[in-house]
Amino acid sequence: MEVVLAAHAGFCFGVTKAVETVYEKIKEKKTNIYTYGPIIHNDIVVNDLKDKGVKVISDVSELKGVSEGVVIIRSHGVTRQVYEDLKATGLDIIDATCPFVKRIHKIVSEESRKGNSIIVVGSSTHPEVEGIVSYSDGPVYVVESPEEARNFNENRELNYTVVSQTTFNKNKFQETIEIFNNYGYNINIVNTICNATDERQSEAREIAARADAMIVIGDENSSNSRKLYEICKESCLNTYFIHTPEDLEMNIPSSAKLVGITAGASTPKNIIEEVQKHVRTNF
Ligand code: SF4
Repeated sequence: MEVVLAAHAGFCFGVTKAVETVYEKIKEKKTNIYTYGPIIHNDIVVNDLKDKGVKVISDVSELKGVSEGVVIIRSHGVTRQVYEDLKATGLDIIDATCPFVKRIHKIVSEESRKGNSIIVVGSSTHPEVEGIVSYSDGPVYVVESPEEARNFNENRELNYTVVSQTTFNKNKFQETIEIFNNYGYNINIVNTICNATDERQSEAREIAARADAMIVIGDENSSNSRKLYEICKESCLNTYFIHTPEDLEMNIPSSAKLVGITAGASTPKNIIEEVQKHVRTNF
């Protein structure tokens, strides 16, 4: 059996930077290290950090009474209000928001100030999207799917700037844009899907199309991992979504000649290696 590991599996640039920042602060023996939300959607990493004393907060009020410490903002970024509130605590705030996410904040801020309404294509409850939305100084809408774009019924006389969540599915984004165009909306499109996501998704699609079985490693809470699973499942029915090597109790068909492996942006390298090793030796 041949095992093909995607070259773009695992930590992306933004996640690597955020995670490394936290480990650096641990090494520097900083006291009171906080992350605003789990630094990545991966329990193994988050629990390791917890064991090393890192605390996860979900609200600035949790810092009340803390006079010394460092707070790291994860790669998803935070809302404008949260950022201001964090700064106001007087603690050391390290902004590890991915530069690709920051770019969207800037676009949304500038375009809304020009008078354009903003449409964000993405998941409204995802922290990255909540952050993006907060940078608009005018009307802002979130559209989660092509279906929602079909039901979008706003003023067609206005100008709209459309951006996307960095991890949104490229094909679905194109489909959504076409719907806005066909429905007569005056849209200025800025494709903000990040290259890492784009490359990861294209490669996964290509491997899944020729694989007899496909393994996607990621956390259920990781939006990019779940999307990766959806993409692979479209081309390869025997696609399995696993979190750790322990979940490898799957039934890879014995006739499988090619097994593909890919992983979301929050999956550490050692887990990918373990899964790869396990598949090579046990199937
Ligand atoms: S997926 Fe892209 S935008 Fe998101 S953290 Fe990684 S590099 Fe940044």
